Amino acid sequence: MQSIVRGPAILVLLALSACAGNGGSKPAAPLDDLSGVPRVAPPGALKDPVHDNLNAVLWTQTSAEYRALAAQAFNQAARTLAKARADAAFSALPEAEQGKIGADAPLAIITDIDETVLDNSAFSVDLIQNPINPALAPAEARKAFEQRWNDWVAQREALPIPGAAELLADAEKNGITVFYITNRKDPEKAETCNNLVQAKLPLKDCATQVLTRNDAEGRTKDKGSRRKMVAAGHRVVLVMGDNLGDFLDGVYVSPEERAALVDQHATWWGDRWIVLPNPMYGSWEDALGNGAIDAASHTFGAEQERRRLEKARHLRAVDWWANPAPMEKK
Ligand SMILES: [Mg+2]
Repeated sequence: MQSIVRGPAILVLLALSACAGNGGSKPAAPLDDLSGVPRVAPPGALKDPVHDNLNAVLWTQTSAEYRALAAQAFNQAARTLAKARADAAFSALPEAEQGKIGADAPLAIITDIDETVLDNSAFSVDLIQNPINPALAPAEARKAFEQRWNDWVAQREALPIPGAAELLADAEKNGITVFYITNRKDPEKAETCNNLVQAKLPLKDCATQVLTRNDAEGRTKDKGSRRKMVAAGHRVVLVMGDNLGDFLDGVYVSPEERAALVDQHATWWGDRWIVLPNPMYGSWEDALGNGAIDAASHTFGAEQERRRLEKARHLRAVDWWANPAPMEKK
Protein backbone atom coordinates (compact mmCIF):
# COMPACT_ATOMS: atom_id res chain seq x y z
CA MET A 1 0.00 0.00 0.00
CA GLN A 2 2.83 2.28 0.90
CA SER A 3 4.43 1.94 -2.52
CA ILE A 4 1.16 2.92 -4.18
CA VAL A 5 1.10 6.30 -2.48
CA ARG A 6 4.84 6.91 -2.63
CA GLY A 7 4.86 8.57 -6.07
CA PRO A 8 2.25 11.24 -5.41
CA ALA A 9 3.52 11.76 -1.85
CA ILE A 10 7.05 12.47 -3.11
CA LEU A 11 5.65 14.82 -5.74
CA VAL A 12 3.77 16.79 -3.11
CA LEU A 13 6.81 16.94 -0.81
CA LEU A 14 8.97 18.14 -3.68
CA ALA A 15 6.40 20.76 -4.55
CA LEU A 16 6.12 21.92 -0.96
CA SER A 17 9.87 22.04 -0.39
CA ALA A 18 10.26 23.96 -3.65
CA CYS A 19 7.67 26.44 -2.48
CA ALA A 20 8.54 26.56 1.21
CA GLY A 21 9.77 29.56 3.09
CA ASN A 22 7.21 32.31 3.28
CA GLY A 23 3.56 33.24 3.36
CA GLY A 24 3.68 35.87 0.62
CA SER A 25 1.28 36.09 -2.27
CA LYS A 26 3.58 37.53 -4.95
CA PRO A 27 3.84 35.59 -8.22
CA ALA A 28 6.79 33.30 -8.74
CA ALA A 29 10.13 34.91 -9.38
CA PRO A 30 11.47 35.32 -12.90
CA LEU A 31 13.76 32.44 -13.74
CA ASP A 32 16.82 34.65 -13.83
CA ASP A 33 16.24 36.17 -10.40
CA LEU A 34 15.50 33.46 -7.87
CA SER A 35 17.93 34.53 -5.16
CA GLY A 36 16.31 36.06 -2.14
CA VAL A 37 12.87 36.24 -3.72
CA PRO A 38 10.13 34.65 -1.64
CA ARG A 39 8.53 31.53 -3.05
CA VAL A 40 4.78 31.29 -3.17
CA ALA A 41 3.47 28.55 -0.96
CA PRO A 42 4.15 27.91 2.71
CA PRO A 43 4.07 24.21 3.76
CA GLY A 44 0.52 22.97 3.87
CA ALA A 45 -0.78 25.63 1.50
CA LEU A 46 -1.38 23.23 -1.35
CA LYS A 47 -5.06 22.59 -0.81
CA ASP A 48 -5.42 20.12 -3.67
CA PRO A 49 -2.33 17.87 -3.56
CA VAL A 50 -3.23 16.10 -6.79
CA HIS A 51 -4.13 19.18 -8.79
CA ASP A 52 -3.78 18.14 -12.42
CA ASN A 53 -1.82 21.25 -13.38
CA LEU A 54 0.86 20.92 -10.70
CA ASN A 55 3.55 19.27 -12.79
CA ALA A 56 2.92 21.43 -15.85
CA VAL A 57 3.21 24.65 -13.87
CA LEU A 58 6.30 23.48 -11.99
CA TRP A 59 7.96 22.47 -15.24
CA THR A 60 7.23 25.85 -16.80
CA GLN A 61 8.49 27.80 -13.81
CA THR A 62 11.50 25.77 -12.72
CA SER A 63 12.88 23.55 -15.46
CA ALA A 64 16.05 24.48 -17.31
CA GLU A 65 14.49 22.66 -20.23
CA TYR A 66 11.66 25.20 -20.50
CA ARG A 67 14.16 28.04 -20.50
CA ALA A 68 16.26 26.26 -23.14
CA LEU A 69 13.20 25.76 -25.37
CA ALA A 70 12.38 29.48 -25.14
CA ALA A 71 15.97 30.33 -26.13
CA GLN A 72 15.75 27.83 -28.96
CA ALA A 73 12.51 29.39 -30.22
CA PHE A 74 13.75 32.97 -30.20
CA ASN A 75 17.18 32.08 -31.65
CA GLN A 76 15.42 30.41 -34.55
CA ALA A 77 13.07 33.38 -34.90
CA ALA A 78 16.09 35.69 -35.26
CA ARG A 79 17.46 33.50 -38.06
CA THR A 80 14.10 33.62 -39.82
CA LEU A 81 14.00 37.43 -39.62
CA ALA A 82 17.47 37.69 -41.16
CA LYS A 83 16.39 35.41 -43.98
CA ALA A 84 13.09 37.26 -44.51
CA ARG A 85 14.77 40.67 -44.78
CA ALA A 86 16.95 39.35 -47.58
CA ASP A 87 14.15 37.68 -49.55
CA ALA A 88 11.29 39.90 -50.74
CA ALA A 89 9.20 36.83 -51.65
CA PHE A 90 9.29 35.38 -48.14
CA SER A 91 6.03 35.45 -46.17
CA ALA A 92 5.05 33.61 -43.00
CA LEU A 93 1.38 33.48 -43.98
CA PRO A 94 -0.31 31.13 -46.44
CA GLU A 95 -1.28 32.88 -49.69
CA ALA A 96 -4.93 32.98 -48.66
CA GLU A 97 -4.04 35.17 -45.71
CA GLN A 98 -1.06 37.15 -47.05
CA GLY A 99 -2.72 38.01 -50.36
CA LYS A 100 -0.89 40.06 -52.96
CA ILE A 101 1.62 42.39 -51.38
CA GLY A 102 4.17 44.69 -52.99
CA ALA A 103 7.87 43.93 -52.72
CA ASP A 104 8.39 47.21 -50.88
CA ALA A 105 5.65 46.59 -48.28
CA PRO A 106 6.68 47.19 -44.67
CA LEU A 107 7.54 44.07 -42.67
CA ALA A 108 5.60 42.74 -39.68
CA ILE A 109 5.76 40.05 -37.03
CA ILE A 110 2.54 38.55 -35.70
CA THR A 111 2.82 37.20 -32.20
CA ASP A 112 0.40 35.87 -29.65
CA ILE A 113 0.75 37.27 -26.12
CA ASP A 114 -0.04 34.74 -23.38
CA GLU A 115 2.59 32.02 -22.93
CA THR A 116 4.31 33.31 -26.08
CA VAL A 117 5.77 36.62 -24.91
CA LEU A 118 4.11 36.99 -21.48
CA ASP A 119 4.33 34.35 -18.74
CA ASN A 120 1.09 33.92 -16.79
CA SER A 121 2.22 30.87 -14.84
CA ALA A 122 1.83 32.78 -11.58
CA PHE A 123 -1.89 32.96 -12.35
CA SER A 124 -1.92 29.17 -12.73
CA VAL A 125 -0.17 28.92 -9.36
CA ASP A 126 -2.93 31.00 -7.81
CA LEU A 127 -5.54 28.62 -9.26
CA ILE A 128 -3.70 25.65 -7.73
CA GLN A 129 -3.41 27.31 -4.34
CA ASN A 130 -6.88 28.83 -4.29
CA PRO A 131 -9.03 26.60 -6.49
CA ILE A 132 -12.37 27.74 -7.85
CA ASN A 133 -15.02 26.37 -5.48
CA PRO A 134 -15.77 22.83 -6.77
CA ALA A 135 -19.34 23.10 -5.50
CA LEU A 136 -20.15 25.80 -8.06
CA ALA A 137 -22.26 24.93 -11.10
CA PRO A 138 -20.28 25.21 -14.39
CA ALA A 139 -21.69 28.61 -15.36
CA GLU A 140 -20.89 30.13 -11.98
CA ALA A 141 -17.47 28.47 -11.92
CA ARG A 142 -16.76 29.99 -15.32
CA LYS A 143 -17.85 33.42 -14.05
CA ALA A 144 -15.63 33.08 -10.99
CA PHE A 145 -12.72 32.09 -13.21
CA GLU A 146 -13.24 35.08 -15.50
CA GLN A 147 -13.29 37.43 -12.52
CA ARG A 148 -10.01 35.95 -11.29
CA TRP A 149 -8.50 36.32 -14.77
CA ASN A 150 -9.64 39.94 -15.09
CA ASP A 151 -8.10 40.70 -11.69
CA TRP A 152 -4.84 39.10 -12.84
CA VAL A 153 -4.81 41.14 -16.07
CA ALA A 154 -5.44 44.33 -14.08
CA GLN A 155 -2.46 43.53 -11.86
CA ARG A 156 -0.30 43.51 -15.04
CA GLU A 157 2.29 41.36 -13.31
CA ALA A 158 2.87 38.85 -16.11
CA LEU A 159 6.60 38.57 -16.78
CA PRO A 160 8.22 38.45 -20.20
CA ILE A 161 9.15 35.01 -21.51
CA PRO A 162 12.97 34.98 -21.40
CA GLY A 163 14.35 36.24 -24.71
CA ALA A 164 11.08 37.61 -26.12
CA ALA A 165 11.73 41.27 -25.39
CA GLU A 166 15.24 41.12 -26.86
CA LEU A 167 14.09 39.45 -30.08
CA LEU A 168 11.18 41.83 -30.64
CA ALA A 169 13.12 44.98 -29.71
CA ASP A 170 15.81 43.99 -32.18
CA ALA A 171 13.17 43.44 -34.87
CA GLU A 172 11.68 46.90 -34.23
CA LYS A 173 15.13 48.44 -34.52
CA ASN A 174 15.34 46.82 -37.95
CA GLY A 175 12.06 48.39 -39.02
CA ILE A 176 9.79 45.39 -38.45
CA THR A 177 6.51 46.23 -36.69
CA VAL A 178 5.26 43.82 -34.04
CA PHE A 179 1.52 43.05 -33.99
CA TYR A 180 0.13 41.27 -30.96
CA ILE A 181 -2.91 39.11 -31.84
CA THR A 182 -4.45 37.85 -28.62
CA ASN A 183 -7.71 36.30 -27.50
CA ARG A 184 -7.76 38.62 -24.53
CA LYS A 185 -10.89 40.72 -25.05
CA ASP A 186 -11.36 44.46 -25.72
CA PRO A 187 -12.00 45.43 -22.08
CA GLU A 188 -8.62 43.87 -21.16
CA LYS A 189 -6.74 45.79 -23.85
CA ALA A 190 -5.53 48.83 -21.90
CA GLU A 191 -4.07 46.81 -19.03
CA THR A 192 -2.62 44.32 -21.49
CA CYS A 193 -0.73 47.13 -23.22
CA ASN A 194 0.47 48.40 -19.84
CA ASN A 195 1.76 44.92 -19.02
CA LEU A 196 3.54 44.63 -22.38
CA VAL A 197 5.28 47.96 -21.82
CA GLN A 198 6.16 47.03 -18.25
CA ALA A 199 7.70 43.79 -19.55
CA LYS A 200 9.76 45.87 -22.00
CA LEU A 201 8.08 44.34 -25.04
CA PRO A 202 8.07 46.83 -27.92
CA LEU A 203 4.80 48.74 -28.28
CA LYS A 204 4.41 52.20 -29.77
CA ASP A 205 0.67 52.24 -30.40
CA CYS A 206 -1.67 50.11 -28.31
CA ALA A 207 -4.65 50.93 -30.56
CA THR A 208 -3.16 49.52 -33.75
CA GLN A 209 -0.53 47.01 -32.63
CA VAL A 210 -2.65 45.00 -30.21
CA LEU A 211 -5.58 43.16 -31.81
CA THR A 212 -7.87 41.81 -29.12
CA ARG A 213 -10.88 39.56 -29.56
CA ASN A 214 -14.33 41.03 -30.22
CA ASP A 215 -16.73 38.56 -31.86
CA ALA A 216 -19.31 41.26 -32.70
CA GLU A 217 -16.70 43.16 -34.69
CA GLY A 218 -15.38 40.12 -36.56
CA ARG A 219 -12.27 39.69 -34.43
CA THR A 220 -13.23 36.14 -33.58
CA LYS A 221 -11.63 33.35 -31.56
CA ASP A 222 -10.12 32.04 -34.80
CA LYS A 223 -7.38 34.56 -35.49
CA GLY A 224 -7.31 34.33 -39.31
CA SER A 225 -9.41 37.47 -39.84
CA ARG A 226 -6.99 39.46 -37.68
CA ARG A 227 -3.95 38.00 -39.44
CA LYS A 228 -5.50 39.22 -42.72
CA MET A 229 -5.94 42.72 -41.23
CA VAL A 230 -2.20 42.90 -40.57
CA ALA A 231 -1.37 41.33 -43.94
CA ALA A 232 -3.40 43.97 -45.78
CA GLY A 233 -0.60 46.48 -45.21
CA HIS A 234 2.43 44.38 -44.36
CA ARG A 235 4.51 41.44 -45.46
CA VAL A 236 4.28 39.17 -42.44
CA VAL A 237 7.68 37.56 -41.95
CA LEU A 238 7.18 35.61 -38.71
CA VAL A 239 4.31 34.18 -36.65
CA MET A 240 4.83 33.15 -33.03
CA GLY A 241 2.44 31.39 -30.65
CA ASP A 242 1.93 28.63 -28.10
CA ASN A 243 -1.34 27.40 -29.52
CA LEU A 244 -2.22 25.84 -32.89
CA GLY A 245 -4.84 28.59 -33.33
CA ASP A 246 -2.08 31.21 -33.33
CA PHE A 247 -1.08 29.85 -36.74
CA LEU A 248 -4.17 28.26 -38.27
CA ASP A 249 -7.94 28.50 -38.12
CA GLY A 250 -10.22 25.50 -37.57
CA VAL A 251 -8.18 24.00 -34.74
CA TYR A 252 -11.13 23.04 -32.54
CA VAL A 253 -11.27 19.53 -33.95
CA SER A 254 -10.12 16.09 -32.81
CA PRO A 255 -6.52 15.38 -31.75
CA GLU A 256 -6.03 13.35 -34.96
CA GLU A 257 -7.28 16.20 -37.15
CA ARG A 258 -5.04 18.65 -35.29
CA ALA A 259 -2.05 16.38 -35.87
CA ALA A 260 -2.90 16.31 -39.59
CA LEU A 261 -3.01 20.14 -39.68
CA VAL A 262 0.48 20.22 -38.20
CA ASP A 263 1.74 17.65 -40.72
CA GLN A 264 0.29 19.62 -43.63
CA HIS A 265 2.60 22.49 -42.69
CA ALA A 266 5.56 20.33 -41.68
CA THR A 267 8.22 22.59 -43.19
CA TRP A 268 6.81 25.80 -41.67
CA TRP A 269 7.55 24.95 -38.04
CA GLY A 270 10.81 26.36 -36.78
CA ASP A 271 10.96 28.50 -39.90
CA ARG A 272 7.99 30.78 -40.63
CA TRP A 273 6.19 29.60 -37.51
CA ILE A 274 7.79 29.49 -34.07
CA VAL A 275 6.03 27.60 -31.27
CA LEU A 276 6.60 28.19 -27.56
CA PRO A 277 5.91 25.35 -25.11
CA ASN A 278 2.81 25.56 -22.91
CA PRO A 279 1.79 22.40 -21.07
CA MET A 280 -0.53 24.31 -18.71
CA TYR A 281 -3.55 24.93 -20.94
CA GLY A 282 -4.60 25.40 -24.55
CA SER A 283 -6.85 24.29 -27.38
CA TRP A 284 -5.18 20.86 -27.13
CA GLU A 285 -7.22 20.37 -23.97
CA ASP A 286 -10.46 21.26 -25.71
CA ALA A 287 -9.67 18.60 -28.30
CA LEU A 288 -9.58 15.96 -25.58
CA GLY A 289 -13.14 16.82 -24.62
CA ASN A 290 -14.56 15.14 -27.75
CA GLY A 291 -18.25 15.91 -27.29
CA ALA A 292 -17.37 19.26 -25.74
CA ILE A 293 -14.67 20.42 -28.10
CA ASP A 294 -15.81 24.03 -28.05
CA ALA A 295 -15.86 24.16 -24.26
CA ALA A 296 -13.37 26.38 -22.51
CA SER A 297 -9.96 24.91 -21.74
CA HIS A 298 -10.30 25.86 -18.12
CA THR A 299 -13.05 23.78 -16.58
CA PHE A 300 -13.83 24.18 -12.93
CA GLY A 301 -16.47 23.38 -10.39
CA ALA A 302 -18.75 20.37 -10.68
CA GLU A 303 -17.70 19.86 -14.30
CA GLN A 304 -14.01 19.46 -13.55
CA GLU A 305 -13.92 15.85 -12.45
CA ARG A 306 -16.05 14.66 -15.37
CA ARG A 307 -13.73 16.51 -17.75
CA ARG A 308 -10.64 15.08 -16.10
CA LEU A 309 -11.91 11.53 -16.61
CA GLU A 310 -12.87 12.29 -20.19
CA LYS A 311 -9.34 13.54 -20.86
CA ALA A 312 -7.80 10.47 -19.21
CA ARG A 313 -9.46 8.26 -21.83
CA HIS A 314 -6.90 9.60 -24.30
CA LEU A 315 -3.91 8.19 -22.45
CA ARG A 316 -1.96 5.87 -24.71
CA ALA A 317 -0.94 2.61 -23.13
CA VAL A 318 1.96 0.53 -24.41
CA ASP A 319 -0.10 -1.38 -26.95
CA TRP A 320 -1.10 1.88 -28.65
CA TRP A 321 2.10 1.49 -30.63
CA ALA A 322 0.91 -1.89 -31.90
CA ASN A 323 -2.54 -0.44 -32.63
CA PRO A 324 -1.94 3.04 -34.02
CA ALA A 325 -4.37 5.91 -33.60
CA PRO A 326 -7.44 5.95 -35.87
CA MET A 327 -5.94 8.58 -38.15
CA GLU A 328 -3.08 6.25 -39.07
CA LYS A 329 -5.38 3.33 -39.78
CA LYS A 330 -7.21 5.21 -42.54
MG1 LIG B 1 -1.13 31.98 -25.95
